[in-house]
Amino acid sequence: MSIRRTKIVATLGPATDDPVMLEKIIKAGVDVVRLNFSHGDAETHKKRAELVRTIAAKYLRHVAILVDLQGPKIRIARFRDKKIFLERGAPFVLDINLPSEAGDETQVGISYPQLASDVEPGDVLMLDDGRVELDVDRVEGGRLFCTVRVGGELSNNKGINLQGGGLSAAALTEKDKADIQTAVQIDADYVAVSFPRTAADIEEARQLLREAGAIDGNIGIVAKIERAEAIEMPVIEEIIKASDVIMVARGDLGVEIGDARLPGVQKDLITRSRALNRVVITATQMMESMIKSPLPTRAEVCDVANAVFDGTDAVMLSAETASGDYPDKAVEAMDRVCLEAEQYPLMVNNEERKEYAPFHRIDEAIAMATMYAANHLNVKAIASLTETGSTTLWMSRTSSNIPIFALTPHRKTCTRVTLFRGVYPFKFFMDTIDHAELNQAVIDDFLRRGLVDSDDDLVILTKGDLSGVRGGTNAMKIVRVGDVRSR
Ligand code: PGA
Ligand code: MN
Repeated sequence: MSIRRTKIVATLGPATDDPVMLEKIIKAGVDVVRLNFSHGDAETHKKRAELVRTIAAKYLRHVAILVDLQGPKIRIARFRDKKIFLERGAPFVLDINLPSEAGDETQVGISYPQLASDVEPGDVLMLDDGRVELDVDRVEGGRLFCTVRVGGELSNNKGINLQGGGLSAAALTEKDKADIQTAVQIDADYVAVSFPRTAADIEEARQLLREAGAIDGNIGIVAKIERAEAIEMPVIEEIIKASDVIMVARGDLGVEIGDARLPGVQKDLITRSRALNRVVITATQMMESMIKSPLPTRAEVCDVANAVFDGTDAVMLSAETASGDYPDKAVEAMDRVCLEAEQYPLMVNNEERKEYAPFHRIDEAIAMATMYAANHLNVKAIASLTETGSTTLWMSRTSSNIPIFALTPHRKTCTRVTLFRGVYPFKFFMDTIDHAELNQAVIDDFLRRGLVDSDDDLVILTKGDLSGVRGGTNAMKIVRVGDVRSR
């Protein structure tokens, strides 16, 4: 039995609004859908979420919903003729007072008034994900006088980043605050904060979720690491600790720190997140050429596989599924590349776990003991009877080839854990507290599902003495299928 351990996040958009296509990508293995709030209105996102849930239910699948807030992405305004071409060496002005439609070959408006105070002569501005670069020569009032450093086409509303980072915009805008309400109404599983600068941004999002009526722990927070200042120590460690999930947001991050630094930073972020018991998504341009092509390039195949080797929980598709020509093919390609990469001997070592680090909770100790036993004994599967899924989170921070099944009566726990590497949820109602009966019920269920077959298969079960208690896991049991199955 080979189940893909690495999870697939797919961004929804016009290309997946056709229910036939949405069904295809879910069948092809999407575990989490991303609703990108940089585009589309609340109604569109609500409809997409509903359709995803309907299709997931039809195939008895758990698909999580991730609401991705737009954040303070700073953009130029618009051009009279929609787009212009900038020649290298030409002067160009960014003007906070220029009417928004009045841009031309010499100047364009800008939606972020503080830009003039955040930037100084000598700074480099990166437009359109770094395709166009401007040297800032001088700042006068609300006007930034620049010289084109790298020329090219520039069209309406393209994004602006400051090389090296340092723009002061707060992470949560008024629009984001309204969108957090929508996320709660949609009953999202995760909310992603774009461009957080510090842990305080994450804490603010958590507070806003609470105020919007979300139950604590019901909506996980994803910190998108996409500012240069966010990867510095100790800021990055504080952001990771404040969050549930980290996204290596390579698009904006690559613009701010330079593309050449990305591979190393990706490895560090993944290692650090796992060591701090957090989940991590690797994102952006993973299968970029598949926007227009039914096959990935060799470089893209290697990029996805390398993210798997780095230990990522999930790989993400953006425009490939949201607006590409082959959303289903992109998911299929990721699925086969991840599966094959996982067959390669594990490259992620558990060194950081071998050091003496005190456990703080009983369920954490059980999770770690389970993985140690599972990795050293020929075990077929791990069955974790769980309320919140936190036991399976700890388990999945240890590298292993053994599948971790999260058995829970709660729908929200099922969807949340779909993002964890190597963790597979299913609904399980514990209608007995008798341990022998419970063991038998689990093993019978595993036999029915084909997760075990031989009497000699071993399964490790974890559970709490009291069912229905959060964080109550206090027991680990190793059972032989033949000894507990019903006859
Ligand atoms: P985005 O974030 O797609 O919302 O810009 C991801 C990234 O920047 O890589
Ligand atoms: Mn981004």
